[in-house]
Amino acid sequence: YRSKNKCFVYGPVNPSCKIMTFRPTVEEFRDFNRYLAYMESQGAHRAGLAKVIPPKGWRPRCSYDDIDDLVIHAPIQQMVAGQSGLFTQFNIQKKPLSVKEFRRLANSDKYCTPRYLNYEDLERKYWKNLTFVSPIYGADVPGSLYDEGIEEWNIGHLNSILDVIEEDCGVSIQGVNTPYLYFGMWKTSFSWHTEDMDLYSINYLHFGEPKSWYAIPPEHGKRLERLATGFFPNGFKGCEAFLRHKMTLISPSILKKYSIPFDKITQEAGEFMITFPYGYHAGFNHGFNCAESTNFASVRWIDYGKVATQCTCSKDMVKISMDPFVKWFQPDRYAVWKLGKDSCPLDHTRATPATTPELQNWLQRSRVKTPVNRYGEGWMEGGGRGMGGGRCEGGREVCGEEGGREGGVWGGGREGGVWGGGRVGGVWGGGREGGRRRRRREGGMWGGGREVEEEGGGGREVCGEEEGGVWKCV
Ligand SMILES: [Zn+2]
Repeated sequence: YRSKNKCFVYGPVNPSCKIMTFRPTVEEFRDFNRYLAYMESQGAHRAGLAKVIPPKGWRPRCSYDDIDDLVIHAPIQQMVAGQSGLFTQFNIQKKPLSVKEFRRLANSDKYCTPRYLNYEDLERKYWKNLTFVSPIYGADVPGSLYDEGIEEWNIGHLNSILDVIEEDCGVSIQGVNTPYLYFGMWKTSFSWHTEDMDLYSINYLHFGEPKSWYAIPPEHGKRLERLATGFFPNGFKGCEAFLRHKMTLISPSILKKYSIPFDKITQEAGEFMITFPYGYHAGFNHGFNCAESTNFASVRWIDYGKVATQCTCSKDMVKISMDPFVKWFQPDRYAVWKLGKDSCPLDHTRATPATTPELQNWLQRSRVKTPVNRYGEGWMEGGGRGMGGGRCEGGREVCGEEGGREGGVWGGGREGGVWGGGRVGGVWGGGREGGRRRRRREGGMWGGGREVEEEGGGGREVCGEEEGGVWKCV
């Protein structure tokens, strides 16, 4: 028999943990949380990452011709050092740039995408050249490019249970429960990480060149942590959760060499990516582009949030109190959990339920407005959520430390050495993609360097030869 996402004979679905691509119909696309539950019923979460291609004709914004004057307040220059597939990334904050100025820079001879044959070729060039010309990333720009009134998959209004933070305590954590924009250029990177509190994330590529992703199945996430600890023992001595600093780049050839299961995929403009709880991911931009993203939650996430590792070396890391989540969605376990006696081994294969009585209850109490949906595929009974009535009374309990991811000092890189030095001026908040922004004197050891166009120059790393995948070539 089949039940939920398991089959009696064959076990849980998507046993290969490959990245799945979904193409919802207009009808299916109406309710975000419902479709997410459907994706998990198909085993999408086991890859740690999934792609969703919206129905043909859907657009979150009529035109992107009017954003030239939008300001990127804290562009970061991404300095990468390392070799043989192991790198540490540092960030230097630059002066504010308008989107128009950023685009000109991204398309300039110095920073533009090199010629390439296909995505595999570009991936090889990325790992060969990432330590040379340091690109500028317009990361962590608070805001959304969705037109008003867009109800489907609106990154600013996903109506996930992460909203309990806002509703219960009126706390907003920038980029976590509010949208962030990311303006990319060739070679800008996001290092290996899971989301804050091991939440889900959603990323929509509004326009421009693709974004390539690597992902590790959550059921194998500890393998990556052990590998990283082995390669960066000093990083680990400084902080047990040093990957949360978002400074560590590890190439796919290293993952392959050490048998870490992973998959890769390239996101094109107009496509969504979803990352799942405890799904490690990393990647890079092919050229000038713009993405929007935020975090969200499901009832399945709650057990992940309870045991998520924390960066202990900085006070400015995002930590969310699990109290309102357990109280609302696991009321039967609340007392035991409060006593610290609720042990729940994570089952990474389990899918999030389409609904629960507690979820229904919360949805009714919250005044969240969601489109009424009614599609009768039958993988799940019942309709969408109603419009909800009264306002949540919400106690004033503090359930999230407010934004301000500022201050703090960084343990710095691999094997001490080179990194220890440097005139570090201070540290700026880390974002979903940008990673920590560390101000540093310009020039110096990272000032120069030239991109290597053909084989034989500088870079040692060669990759892309591996099987494994969906390295899509168009
Ligand atoms: Zn730390």
